[in-house]
Amino acid sequence: MEEWAEQLQNSVNTLERLKSVINVTEEEEIAIRTLNTKWGTTPYFASLMDPDDPECPIRRQVIPSLKEKENRYGIPNYLIWKENRDTDEVRPDSIARQYHDRIAFTVTDLCANYCRHCFRKELVVDRNLQLRFDVDEGLAWIKEHEEIRDVLITGGDPFILSDDKIEYLIRKLREIPHIQMFRFGSRTPVVLPHRITDGLKKVLSGYHQVPIWLNTQCNHPKEITEKTAKAVFDLLSCGVNVGNQAVLLKGINDNKETFRELHQKLLSVRIRPYYVFYCEPAPGIDHFRTPVEKGAELIRDAIRGHTTGLAQPMYVVATKIGKIPLMPDYYIQGKTENEYTLRNYKGQTIKWPNIPE
Ligand code: SF4
Repeated sequence: MEEWAEQLQNSVNTLERLKSVINVTEEEEIAIRTLNTKWGTTPYFASLMDPDDPECPIRRQVIPSLKEKENRYGIPNYLIWKENRDTDEVRPDSIARQYHDRIAFTVTDLCANYCRHCFRKELVVDRNLQLRFDVDEGLAWIKEHEEIRDVLITGGDPFILSDDKIEYLIRKLREIPHIQMFRFGSRTPVVLPHRITDGLKKVLSGYHQVPIWLNTQCNHPKEITEKTAKAVFDLLSCGVNVGNQAVLLKGINDNKETFRELHQKLLSVRIRPYYVFYCEPAPGIDHFRTPVEKGAELIRDAIRGHTTGLAQPMYVVATKIGKIPLMPDYYIQGKTENEYTLRNYKGQTIKWPNIPE
């Protein structure tokens, strides 16, 4: 058995296994015993947890919390609402649509790490939403819809699938003439870097037309190790572009130092920061959410001007009508008929000519 499959087989998903890695608190134990929820992670990701600190940023993403029972701000049936599954357009369960020319293609509800803050919690973690993941049905729908030029293959985590299944997906999508690119959303480079095997590399690098992008999710600098660096290097060496889609998480990455370090460290392992998402109003994850403005403030106070522009992600609120960017808005301080007053990250201002159209 390959190492990645062994990692999945030995998933840290029982109290007994968890206790062999960390000192479980009484509250964590009660949450695990009483919440009816899927949880667990790979032994590799579990080994990055602080054994003694329940506030460890990795631990909080992995271990169920009693706070998940609270739901003041979450929207019930969130995924149905968010992914426009209650509209008149008839689509297979596997196809979620918010845009005219691109769709999300959900191919599994299994993951290597069951993130406690997941916006697909109802489907993936709490499992009270059942969908049918018929890959051929989804492929047929994409083939019929010539306006679709870009497909996001998502889950769950699509890299949990076997090499053969991934190869089939890639081959079939590439046979559809209107598909110009496709993307995988996979957390495996961070939670299961062993998944980037020679076999998978062969599958991914078998073609050069119709590029593949991979967006992973890394939320804290502690998640970036030499193993992740090597996995990303291997992905890039077979022509797969790697970006990051972090989630803004209260108490985990919502302070300036951590936020800057995360984005600098991502670049140091060749991952391009792409998005920071506001933590979505799925039920039971209120405790991870910050005020909406927080992400823009962090970009203003920790990234823009404070480090290379390559480290700057776009901060967005992902909604059912598409992503809404919320970036710092301090740059234009004033405008007259003749000039603008522009402000930089240090608060210094400069006059700039206003050119009439
Ligand atoms: S890997 Fe993605 S889909 Fe799976 S639990 Fe985490 S956030 Fe959700």
